[in-house]
Amino acid sequence: MTDQPSTKDIRVATLVDPRGMKKVSLADWSTRGDKIFENKKDAKASLDADAQAINTLQDALFASKVGSLLIVLQGIDTSGKDGVTKEAFHYTSPLGVLVHAFGKPTEEELAHDYLWRLHKVTPRKGYITVFNRSQYEDVLVVKLRKLAPAEAVEQRYEQINQFEKTLVENGTRVLKLMLHISKDEQGERLRERLEVPEKRWKFNPGDIEDRKLWDDYQAAYETVLQRCSTPWAPWHVVPADSRSRRDAIAARLIRAELEAMKPEYPDPGYRLDQYEID
Ligand code: ADP
Repeated sequence: MTDQPSTKDIRVATLVDPRGMKKVSLADWSTRGDKIFENKKDAKASLDADAQAINTLQDALFASKVGSLLIVLQGIDTSGKDGVTKEAFHYTSPLGVLVHAFGKPTEEELAHDYLWRLHKVTPRKGYITVFNRSQYEDVLVVKLRKLAPAEAVEQRYEQINQFEKTLVENGTRVLKLMLHISKDEQGERLRERLEVPEKRWKFNPGDIEDRKLWDDYQAAYETVLQRCSTPWAPWHVVPADSRSRRDAIAARLIRAELEAMKPEYPDPGYRLDQYEID
């Protein structure tokens, strides 16, 4: 086995500088991740250890209620948002983890401000919530499909930053992962969806339409990374061409976030010697 990357290595390789001084270009981030994990066997071993640690940390978080964690997963179709969720929480009790997938807004949602549907399902203390797509769709698909006026979209970057700041200042940590896949790999995965019977249900003709807008999506993501990587909620770009490396990198970042919360089992609040079980 080769040397496993440290958490710091993984952070540095994926972090988008929150000061946002430099022009963000997705070409600066690998989609392969083979510099982080040289081989897939190491990635799998790392994922397994981190998924077990996430289980232990989640249990303590649930008991301690020191705060909550919101994981925001974004990425183009087939980038693996479902896969990351499944693998990182492989060992974790479903009792303390909630997943919300955001599709096209309903009539009721559209009748409110765009953050309404998100804010009402942010995690309560002790919980972890995963957003599979998120507030960022409102500056991605909405921008490219012109579903809201350009001026409204322009205001949203700062509104989202302030929304996330409000969450962080009130005890919810926000971990944002952009799953970064290459166009070739996406082509492979879409083909697979058409060819493999068990995967066909995942195929959506709309994905082909979005693929035609590949360059526009990349540019829209770059704007998101540039304008919404903040000191309180920075973005991480996770290489997503290899499933095992992607999951291992995401799991390490999730584990590190939970460790930083220092969840500890609370004092029971009673004297153990007062009780006897007959
Ligand atoms: P997924 O592709 O994530 O597996 P779906 O097939 O249900 O799930 O697709 C969800 C769709 O909803 C995506 O095409 C996405 O762009 C769209 N969507 C999400 N949020 C919004 C939004 N705020 N406005 C319009 N469309 C949205």
